[in-house]
Amino acid sequence: MVKYPNLEKVATWRSKGDIFYLCTICRYCISETYEYLDGEDKSAGYQNLCPTFDLWEHEAYSSLGRISIARALYEGKMELTDKALELIYACSLCGACREECFARRRTKYYEIHEAKPSPFDPMEILLALRRDAVELGKGPLPVQQGWMKQIVEKNNPYYEAHEARLDWLKPEIREKLPKEAEVVYFVGCTSAYRQKNIANATVNILEKTGVNYTIMDPEEWCCGSPAYMTGRMDVFKRQLEHNIEAVKKYKAKRVITSCAGCYRMWKKEYPETLGVKLPFEVLHTVELLQELVKNGKIRLENKVEKTVTYHDPCHIGRHLRDGGELYKPLFEPPREVLQAIPGITLKEMPRKLWYSFCCSSGGGFRSAFPRESIEIASRRVKEALDQKVDALVSTCPFCYRNFKDAIEEKKFNIELYDVVELVEKAMA
Ligand code: SF4
Ligand code: SF4
Repeated sequence: MVKYPNLEKVATWRSKGDIFYLCTICRYCISETYEYLDGEDKSAGYQNLCPTFDLWEHEAYSSLGRISIARALYEGKMELTDKALELIYACSLCGACREECFARRRTKYYEIHEAKPSPFDPMEILLALRRDAVELGKGPLPVQQGWMKQIVEKNNPYYEAHEARLDWLKPEIREKLPKEAEVVYFVGCTSAYRQKNIANATVNILEKTGVNYTIMDPEEWCCGSPAYMTGRMDVFKRQLEHNIEAVKKYKAKRVITSCAGCYRMWKKEYPETLGVKLPFEVLHTVELLQELVKNGKIRLENKVEKTVTYHDPCHIGRHLRDGGELYKPLFEPPREVLQAIPGITLKEMPRKLWYSFCCSSGGGFRSAFPRESIEIASRRVKEALDQKVDALVSTCPFCYRNFKDAIEEKKFNIELYDVVELVEKAMA
């Protein structure tokens, strides 16, 4: 019997387990130099690109280390010990390693072998390993198991009551939410229970612009991203089946999400898991904002005099590579919206777009490694401070929350916004 069936699926290219031997231990997935990025700002010089390697300074906490563990497990050269399990989950699945591996190795190796796109994907290997750890009864880590129980029992991972999901919403708006609408605003657990500022700003804009929207009350459940990223595919499938049926019931043509993690699930993982095209369009809120600014439904007339820098969330950025017509990274929409706000000056950080440095709240990392997660987020906030800006802006409640905790804990002198909050400030 195959002990690691999920791993075997992604570890086979020409023969069983041969993928692992495509890793040449070049270490590019650990650090970056920028010298090959045409037209990019090279001032950042040499830096650790893997946030967990940056923190622990040990190769076992990098993609290279985790791939070596996967290979040793697959080949029966080691057991899935508690320490190995910890290493497998001590990763935010940010995908920076994959970019570097693809960018460097694509020209150096894969083109020679005419294997395009690359058959070797560090993120897929790690996800498969997490699924196998779950199937072997060992994963995810105990604190993440607690989250899974909450998702199943209360439809959110935050130990909150399902009935409290829309407590942030003004009663007069909640009462008139229609049972059918063109747009379903999928709030997501983090905006609903933790970053209510993002949910409130979104609803205020939807109300002002007259978009025909609703919120699924009480049908909205966690999108399942925490389950997907930690290997609990049983929980993930439960969430996706419920949420898709709920949106169909509301006869929506569009679903919008505030959260980068929810967006990846709705846009990529729901249809790919089911092998179908969803009968509605999926947008991140920032894409709708871009559209409403373009068609004049949002008039940005109030000056917001601030110099800001923008943090690309991994889940709406590099995670959406190779999607063809189906999905692509949302690099342009947030920048276009920010630049449309009068008074805003956008100053980019050197590590941006495909090479953004992760805030490290995703992939189940923050729940299992809260101290380490805030430390990594604070390193990213320092990069923003280095740009001498007034504010750090992102467009994900998960990033927002980690940055907020880092800013408060380290007493950094910088403001923090979601794009939607700045748009609300600027609206006539
Ligand atoms: S960049 Fe790719 S090939 Fe090089 S060590 Fe990392 S995973 Fe292996
Ligand atoms: S996904 Fe991110 S945190 Fe995980 S190994 Fe790759 S670069 Fe490091």
